[in-house]
Amino acid sequence: MKASQLFYPTLREVPSEAEIVSHQLLLRAGFIRKNTAGVYTYLPLARRVLRKIENIVREEMDKAGGQEIVMPIIQPRELWDKSGRWSLYGEEMFKLGDRHKREFALGPTHEELITTLVNADVHSYKGLPLLLYQIQNKYRDEIRPRFGLMRGREFIMKDLYSFDVDDAGLDVSYQKMHKAYQQIYERLNLKYRVVQADSGAIGGKESHEFMVLAASGESEIVYCTLCDYAANVEKAVCSVDQAVRTEEESRPLTKVHTPGQKTINDIVEFLGIPKTKQIKTLMYSADGELIAAILRGDRELNEIKLKNTLQANELFMADEAVVKEICGAGFGSLGPVGMPVRIYIDLEVAAMNNFACGANEDDYHFTNVNLDRDFTAYAVADLRNAVAGDKCPCCEGNLQMIRGIEVGHIFKLGTRYSQAMQATFLDDKGQEQFFVMGCYGIGVSRTMAAAVEQNYDENGIIWPLPIAPFQVIIVPVNINQADQKAMAEQLYQQLTANGIEVLLDDRDERAGVKFKDADLIGIPLRITIGSKTLQENKVEMKKRWEKESFLVDIDAVIGTVHDIIFK
Ligand code: ATP
Ligand code: MG
Repeated sequence: MKASQLFYPTLREVPSEAEIVSHQLLLRAGFIRKNTAGVYTYLPLARRVLRKIENIVREEMDKAGGQEIVMPIIQPRELWDKSGRWSLYGEEMFKLGDRHKREFALGPTHEELITTLVNADVHSYKGLPLLLYQIQNKYRDEIRPRFGLMRGREFIMKDLYSFDVDDAGLDVSYQKMHKAYQQIYERLNLKYRVVQADSGAIGGKESHEFMVLAASGESEIVYCTLCDYAANVEKAVCSVDQAVRTEEESRPLTKVHTPGQKTINDIVEFLGIPKTKQIKTLMYSADGELIAAILRGDRELNEIKLKNTLQANELFMADEAVVKEICGAGFGSLGPVGMPVRIYIDLEVAAMNNFACGANEDDYHFTNVNLDRDFTAYAVADLRNAVAGDKCPCCEGNLQMIRGIEVGHIFKLGTRYSQAMQATFLDDKGQEQFFVMGCYGIGVSRTMAAAVEQNYDENGIIWPLPIAPFQVIIVPVNINQADQKAMAEQLYQQLTANGIEVLLDDRDERAGVKFKDADLIGIPLRITIGSKTLQENKVEMKKRWEKESFLVDIDAVIGTVHDIIFK
């Protein structure tokens, strides 16, 4: 491809709406343009990268036994009513109507559609296992579309669905996908980690997320420094911090006047106690019922764990006026002693003694509070977020934190959809059984952005070789010099004939401009042709990820390029 003909409108300025690097660079380097919030056009360079990602994904899905199909984006409401998800999916679903006032959704995911499809055409265990996938646009009206392609409202996803006769079959399909995903991220040349995840609203048993590691990642991951335990913070299992178990005697409950002391920091300072001797009481409305969640003063509540413990569909922080009416005090003075609603305490709190808390009376606190003697808990559960330094739940190691971008997600669905949608087959004994399903997604467009988040410098993108839009860029220093132009053409032809993807920067621009653009768009290997080196029958080569360039004999160019690209 000749740069003079390529549509890649680069920008000198950093676009002000772009907060993270991948968004800035993909806009600046002329890969994407915004249409409306969370909706983008992929320009030619982006299309080339996406195609490469898609091809790697496709090859690995095929290798694992997947078969590619294309399902419609428009899905009738009735399918979603059957699964019960028309209302459950809520605001995140784009809805539309036709001229007959029938309602439809723009597919945010395809469990309903594929379950219907397979149910209609697979009647016997002989047709199983079946692994079907597609690569296409998905539509989700995200509350906060942001970070460019990271969280779009229209984005490209690969989604595969597995259908098996039983749980053992699902285990096999799940393992195949797990392996295929690892293979994919290895081949994409991205640093990643597989973590245990929460299966959230989609409802299933086992679930893993594939995280590309990057400082800007939205997900926090904990991992063990000794064993291979890793989990999303949402899911990470917290063990009780041994340090809080003190052997001291229970002391008498004491009420203390604490005028104006509202926050945890205020209280611990006022009372002169450590935060580990103070608890906090958070009030939630769970499916309309007021409940109290209690944690050690310095911990963060994990709402997902609380929601799972409560088995609640809807959970939100309670309104202070309501709390005041029921409990007799505002947020800063609450505590479990005399609390008139159900109390859920974190594991760690169950191990504490002689601690301080609000007295459910404005400006009063209790000290020397003890569980069972002074209050009872409705349930004790793991409710807090894991933090760096926590004990690993699997071994003697300690947990560390890193950030990652969720690029893939695999779930065991079991019979969640087949039961709701009455999707069955006949087993080898002629008995009717529900299909046992799994679903496996990869954010293709998000993976492109994640690759940039992990691979860039102050000059621009540094594409990993397997997904670079072009592998080589040839830059003649001055295209008006006949010898340079001729050599550029010659190398372009030879490399192209050898199956290498080359961009020839044949624009009549200053060398500095061309180098800047080459760095910005991130082509892995640059070949610079200048008259001086040409006299010695040499060209200059530079790897995008290294500082120094090196000279190569013209005869050795093809071999050297080959070694770098296909090694
Ligand atoms: P998230 O927690 O980021 O919202 P999700 O759990 O909703 O993701 P899935 O339904 O599992 O995502 O979708 C499969 C994959 O599709 C995700 O792992 C992610 O890579 C990608 N994906 C999901 N939502 C978006 C989005 N709004 N924009 C781009 N990619 C997305
Ligand atoms: Mg989501």
